[in-house]
Amino acid sequence: MPGGLLRTANRVDNLLGMKGMSGLSLCESFLEHARDMGVVIEAAPVKSINVHEGSFHLESGKGNRDFSNLILATGSRPKRLDLPDAMYRIDGPGDLKGGSLLIIGGGDLAFDNALRVFGWGIDVCILHRSAPKANHSLVNEVREAGIRLVKGDVGMVSPGRDGYHLEGEGVFDNAAVFTGRVPDRSLIDHMGPVEVFMPSHETSVKGLYVIGDAASIESSQTAYAMSSGLSAAMDIARKVREDEGGP
Ligand SMILES: Cc1cc2nc3c(=O)[nH]c(=O)nc-3n(C[C@H](O)[C@H](O)[C@H](O)COP(=O)(O)OP(=O)(O)OC[C@H]3O[C@@H](n4cnc5c(N)ncnc54)[C@H](O)[C@@H]3O)c2cc1C
Repeated sequence: MPGGLLRTANRVDNLLGMKGMSGLSLCESFLEHARDMGVVIEAAPVKSINVHEGSFHLESGKGNRDFSNLILATGSRPKRLDLPDAMYRIDGPGDLKGGSLLIIGGGDLAFDNALRVFGWGIDVCILHRSAPKANHSLVNEVREAGIRLVKGDVGMVSPGRDGYHLEGEGVFDNAAVFTGRVPDRSLIDHMGPVEVFMPSHETSVKGLYVIGDAASIESSQTAYAMSSGLSAAMDIARKVREDEGGP
């Protein structure tokens, strides 16, 4: 979906000049800006990427295409727990059934999602294994909102017909897991180990760039996704100019 994970961010405070915007409204303004600049955005799942005679052959839900350079920005995928029907992403109130949600995880994503869902009038409880790792302001906001924090692990949760039973706390209609993410490079895994070089973000496969969360989950920030994309785009533009005999 255009906009990616940022669409689910409650409030983004760390983008210079855009303090306090919701992730969704930031994405809408990014999309509008990109379209105004002439960027063509096609929504289609990419099924495979193969290198053929120096170009990248892309097979997608909208047919097959070849490109001489390719920027992979497929983001990350969640670490999964053995909890039936648990959610790993919440896009809107329509994703929830009933009025309560148990969130498992203690980092920024768990706390940010808790605040967003709580704002929809849902009873939210966060189950975290160790001291919360989310940033202080998120933790304080969650505490001030009165969202329940329970220390323990997923062993305290048993799924039943009526929902997820959390020992000593009751039953929740929904459960969501935010216990970390890993870069999603599944489309290029078959190419073997692919090294990403700084600052261009070009890889050991000539013409292939990897940016954003797919390049580094430790740097999982919108500003990094943007700046790594910029580095890659500038490197490609330089190569195109050189190929055309320009400076
Ligand atoms: C709850 C939450 C709160 C956050 N808060 C902040 C914050 O306050 N500040 C901040 O800087 N960052 C925040 N982040 C992090 C930020 O959202 C990510 O770092 C950023 O979205 C990474 O961008 P990306 O483009 O690398 O990946 P993503 O946003 O994950 O985008 C990847 C895109 O690739 C698409 N895709 C993947 N595979 C395929 C395929 N096979 N075919 C077609 N498309 C595909 C996906 O559908 C998606 O649109 C937050 C994240 C979350 C989840």
